[in-house]
Amino acid sequence: MSNTDFQIKCPICSWNHDGRENWRCTCGHTWNTFQTYGTCPKCNKRWEDTQCPTVICGKWSKHEDWYIVPINIVELKLKSNYLIND
Ligand SMILES: [Zn+2]
Ligand SMILES: [Zn+2]
Repeated sequence: MSNTDFQIKCPICSWNHDGRENWRCTCGHTWNTFQTYGTCPKCNKRWEDTQCPTVICGKWSKHEDWYIVPINIVELKLKSNYLIND
């Protein structure tokens, strides 16, 4: 199962995540929040909510609500914890 086998969508407007680094942390770092389960890889800030990057929507939703097809969230959480403890 590759990373393209699951879908990530905005729960409000159904915008499809395009795999780009659309999220900017308060520390100024820009990254793809779905590769780290909402944790900034630079300052390790954990984002419980994720903002839709589209101009028309721009709404905040629970990070977990973005995953349409169940994926290995445990694995992502472990990765996220690893980043925090690193
Ligand atoms: Zn949206
Ligand atoms: Zn940060």
